[in-house]
Amino acid sequence: MDERLRQELANWLEFYRELGIEEFYRRAPGSGGLSPVTGHRRIADSAASGGTPPVVATKPALTETKPVVSPTAPLPSPPARASQTVVVAPPVSPTAPLPLPRAGASQTAVVAAPIRPPAPSLSLFETPPPKPSGPETLEQIRADLGDCHRCKLAGGRHTIVFGEGNPHAELVFVGEGPGADEDEQGRPFVGRAGQLLNRMIQMIEMKREEVYICNVVKCRPPGNRTPEKDEIETCSPFLFRQLEAMKPRLICCLGAPAVRTVLGIKEGITKIHGQFYDFATSKALATVHPAYVLRNAREEKILREDFEKIREFLKGK
Ligand code: URA
Repeated sequence: MDERLRQELANWLEFYRELGIEEFYRRAPGSGGLSPVTGHRRIADSAASGGTPPVVATKPALTETKPVVSPTAPLPSPPARASQTVVVAPPVSPTAPLPLPRAGASQTAVVAAPIRPPAPSLSLFETPPPKPSGPETLEQIRADLGDCHRCKLAGGRHTIVFGEGNPHAELVFVGEGPGADEDEQGRPFVGRAGQLLNRMIQMIEMKREEVYICNVVKCRPPGNRTPEKDEIETCSPFLFRQLEAMKPRLICCLGAPAVRTVLGIKEGITKIHGQFYDFATSKALATVHPAYVLRNAREEKILREDFEKIREFLKGK
């Protein structure tokens, strides 16, 4: 017999021995067994036994996966069988190689994953090691926000406007939500209202890069409508985390939604503007929204007065 064929047969026999069915192949020649290599009925044997006329090919009982000839190569994988289920337990490490399933026929095999030693557990008298503490960074909060789809505003937005500026700012502005320009550029207060805000910041001899600017909601509400309650509830935890991370000396709330969200005050801005409130370790002040001033030019006086208060507050150490 050809050496290569002999080796091939030997490999298959080894494989069937592992499956526990090697007896099947020990039958006397002519007994009508299937060729392990091709699944074809052995024509010569069949004829010799005087049985049924030779059948050239029958549906192979096993798929025709050829065994690997090289003795150094990994074991051949057993051909798939309908009645065989191989349950592979999840590996402990995603990089750990899985052992080759070598289940017997019609048998459910659980292939154990490599086991790592269990993490040492603490006794009652031990204290857990301290968790890495310290305030969150803005980068961490931004990363957590991700490609946010937590509320319905995500569907209509172009860009998330997280906020920008000095992460160590003494002064943080909180607006309502991005408009069309902000949504386009991914930056807060870059449209007309932003230009007015920039002028106010310059008026108190500060630079825009020195302050931090963000909004109650990070995605543009359709048609620039006021953000809805559920949207504010979903998004404002990120604002609060930003404020907690920065701990500015002063938070300036621009417009009613910011005042309501940050300070929980429902009274009209024209009543409460220019007053200082406590917010955690910061102070907070409410003023009219620059967009409102653009529509009501007479109200610019309020904005200017409130910005003068901000200037005075920040001067005092
Ligand atoms: N109005 C806001 O409230 N926020 C912006 O970022 C721009 C306009």
